[in-house]
Amino acid sequence: MNRVSVVIVGAGLSGLYAAYLLEQQGVHDHVLLEARSRLGGRLLSESVGDARFDLGATWYWPDMQPQLDAVVSALGVRTFHQHEAGSMVFEQSATAPVRRFDGLSAEPSQSLRVEGGMAALVDALAARVPSEKIRLGHRVRHIGSFDGDGTWVDAVTEDGEAYRVLARHVLLALPPRLVVDRIGFDPPLPSALAREWADCPTWMAPHAKYVAVYPRPFWRAQGLSGSARSYAGPMVELHDASPPEGMGALFGFVGVPAATRQTVPAETLIRLCRAQMGRLFGAEALNPTADWLKDWSDDEFTATPADAVSATGHPSAPSAAPRDARWHGRITGIASEWSPLFPGYVAGAIDAALRGTEALAAALCQVSGSKP
Ligand SMILES: Cc1cc2nc3c(=O)[nH]c(=O)nc-3n(C[C@H](O)[C@H](O)[C@H](O)COP(=O)(O)OP(=O)(O)OC[C@H]3O[C@@H](n4cnc5c(N)ncnc54)[C@H](O)[C@@H]3O)c2cc1C
Repeated sequence: MNRVSVVIVGAGLSGLYAAYLLEQQGVHDHVLLEARSRLGGRLLSESVGDARFDLGATWYWPDMQPQLDAVVSALGVRTFHQHEAGSMVFEQSATAPVRRFDGLSAEPSQSLRVEGGMAALVDALAARVPSEKIRLGHRVRHIGSFDGDGTWVDAVTEDGEAYRVLARHVLLALPPRLVVDRIGFDPPLPSALAREWADCPTWMAPHAKYVAVYPRPFWRAQGLSGSARSYAGPMVELHDASPPEGMGALFGFVGVPAATRQTVPAETLIRLCRAQMGRLFGAEALNPTADWLKDWSDDEFTATPADAVSATGHPSAPSAAPRDARWHGRITGIASEWSPLFPGYVAGAIDAALRGTEALAAALCQVSGSKP
């Protein structure tokens, strides 16, 4: 059987950053198991030529999130400010004329975006983790605790093959709600902890984003910022999503609730989004070079049925590790939702992974009485 010091479950930002930190700390016997066939989790950027466009997270705020900003800089990833200059448009209803508001800024001016999309951050971390330690298409299904010095992790590959690895510690780098819904534990997790994790909404899991790419950001020449608000829908909040130069792009959050969206074919929703772009930004917006609708609520590696309902406000972080004697020192939650500082945010993934790996040395000592 494979044996390592640490198994990381999930190769989103938190899992990749934890793997990077372990490498930095000299803990080289670890493995990262990722259910999807791609890295990044809720960081997802699609390409048109050399440009990439975010279908998941878009911004971070360096003044409030200096820890993430330092990581971005250290990785050599370049950033730029969200484009805000120009007027915002507002749609009261599908039939009322679109109104234009001059000098209305949509976002705090400090919103930063990543050149090459958030996937550039994922790529930069992945390049610093030996590729043989990352196993894509490995969906973890069971985690069990031995009486002795070990915790086994069972996964199944995309080809249906079983994969088992024995670890001294498991870092759970997937949302707490997903852990409880998808992974069986033997012995079961303490019931109060399982409830706490199940009750923690996965940030943005109920949402869907539409992104449209154009040859150039034509709305800027009309004095428009690309920001819009709408009561007509399907999108309710729109922003400029253009790269720093070259092509143009707009994106919008779809306001139709997840349960309703799932009754409508994606093509219908895309058609309605294109038509809305035309109403808001003119005929040129009707025919994008490329467009995507990403519904996170029907993505099994992000959302559970409980995430069909939007949470009000950000979740507060649940306990990251069990106190129960059978599990204590064996598993730690490090996905973004476990960050006490920024639960659910990109910055939370960095914060929670740092906390988890710092606690790891102590946890490994408790299990085996030795250092990692
Ligand atoms: C539409 C959208 C917009 C957002 N906008 C912003 C924003 O502008 N700013 C911001 O700060 N935050 C934003 N967020 C939130 C941000 O994306 C997340 O906080 C962050 O990406 C979480 O990273 P993570 O690694 O903790 O979790 P995730 O990215 O969810 O990673 C979890 C990983 O675990 C994997 N996994 C799941 N189940 C299993 C299993 N059984 N076995 C193995 N692997 C498994 C998943 O495939 C995934 O790769 C947004 C999110 C979405 C969806």
